Amino acid sequence: MKMITQHVGFIPGPVNVGVIRTEDQGILVDTGLDDQSAKRIIAAAEEASIDIIGILNTHAHADHYGGNARIRKSFKDLRFIYAPAIEDAVIRYPILEPVYLFGANPIAQLKGKFLMGKPSPAEPLPSPTIPFEDLTIQVISLPGHSINQVGYVCDNVFFCADSIFPKGIVEKYGLLYCFDVEAQQKTLHSLKNLPPYKMIVPSHARPRQNISLLVEENIRHMEEISEAILNLTSAPKTADTLTSQLCTQRDIPLKSIWQYHLHLNTVKAYLAALLKEEMVSVFVEEDALIWVRK
Ligand SMILES: [Zn+2]
Repeated sequence: MKMITQHVGFIPGPVNVGVIRTEDQGILVDTGLDDQSAKRIIAAAEEASIDIIGILNTHAHADHYGGNARIRKSFKDLRFIYAPAIEDAVIRYPILEPVYLFGANPIAQLKGKFLMGKPSPAEPLPSPTIPFEDLTIQVISLPGHSINQVGYVCDNVFFCADSIFPKGIVEKYGLLYCFDVEAQQKTLHSLKNLPPYKMIVPSHARPRQNISLLVEENIRHMEEISEAILNLTSAPKTADTLTSQLCTQRDIPLKSIWQYHLHLNTVKAYLAALLKEEMVSVFVEEDALIWVRK
């Protein structure tokens, strides 16, 4: 566990797990992917002599809540697991993620641990601030990457979840998953004017005092993808064809059935935003759903 202030630190990993602590109690921000991640967190908490009394999830992607169940089993004094509204439902019923990605009773290939964490109880966040002994944890709305993602601020440290990704991940995956393009763009612009936090901790990048470069890179990535999709709609086509052409054109890896669904749904998020801006239109023709530039 790396402490940033007396009360706030994090456990580094594939997903950075936030820790907010008093003398002997702690609250976690997210819990990693699975039992394995949970065990690392439990070991870190034991080493720091803190009893985990609560979990604050940022959003309902499996790599952020999949450790909840194991943590809950290990800490008998755990009083709450909070998540943003709607996301709490996915944590309780993880099948909802493959359901919304597939749109029907999902095929087995979409039920792996990266799309479905172990279920755990979760309640919607009760208020915009969570008191914890003498500390106050502030909830920051960061929708776009998922339907209702939030971040948390405590002791001047900001856990900003998956609102931004580092350059390495942008380049490796070529297409960042997005649920709502307009919301994500608003979220990114809101991150340009942050109060002078002591530290900002993204889930998938090292903590830093200044994220403006990352924010600019993420904004540019979204602009490039949006432009590429708009250009591809110059000839009418289905979202399926468009996804395939986008991946070929930009060397975006598409190697598995679940990756295909993430990409297709991200493309749909961009198309929905372009439709709202009246840049494209959508209609049914020759028994296909067609998107075309206006
Ligand atoms: Zn995520």
